[in-house]
Amino acid sequence: MPSTPVPLHVSQASGRPLRVLVASGPTHEPIDSVRYIGNRSSGRMGAAIADAFAGAGCAVTIARGPGALPPTQAVQQLAFGSAAELLTVLSQEWPRHDVLVMAAAVADFRPAKALAGKLKRASGHVQLDLEPTEDIVAALAAAARSDQFVVGFALEPEADLERSARDKLRRKGVDAIVANPLQTMDSVTVVGRVLLADGSWHMPAEGAAISKQEFATWLCKLVLPLAAKRIGARS
Ligand code: C5P
Repeated sequence: MPSTPVPLHVSQASGRPLRVLVASGPTHEPIDSVRYIGNRSSGRMGAAIADAFAGAGCAVTIARGPGALPPTQAVQQLAFGSAAELLTVLSQEWPRHDVLVMAAAVADFRPAKALAGKLKRASGHVQLDLEPTEDIVAALAAAARSDQFVVGFALEPEADLERSARDKLRRKGVDAIVANPLQTMDSVTVVGRVLLADGSWHMPAEGAAISKQEFATWLCKLVLPLAAKRIGARS
């Protein structure tokens, strides 16, 4: 008798839907009580990714930074402001998830000391002392179990994209890197490709610009079988 095919979003070993954690949008690093340093990020890609995995039947949690677009599907939503808050939220959530998609545009630097109140213009010339933020995806990848799967992002100028993606894959210890050029920012379309830890490159639509929704659906189809295999290997 032919066996019933197992849906992609369900781990064959455990029989439960995969749990996917998505981080999306910018972080805001306070300068004082009013001002911040942040990256430009709409959260459109993160929302599309959350929708794609939820649409494929996964149990999705999305952590959204300030102003990041919400997903359209009914998924669990959490909020963060700064990189430190994002690290706290993800550290709590990561152990009960199978897949992390780190699409958040984390600020690489934060003011070493946030001032209470509002810095006065009359203070004149101001110098900010900036310190690096934690590399969150690297920390979570280092803490990952062998049955978890981590996807990071690389947003770089096209000319340096592939070299930079290879470098980030190794340095951050992730299983896959989504490489997209700087033009992806604030755009509704994306020309993205994915580098897996085995060194293979994968590209949707033969490199044509596609909507972030289409890209997210393609990414979900690429990642789900790989993540499901991890869970299967555990038991
Ligand atoms: O090093 P870079 O910021 O270019 O790497 C991009 C990837 O690393 C993204 O997945 C981003 O979410 C993540 N990242 C992070 N913590 C940081 C900076 C970036 O997790 N402090």
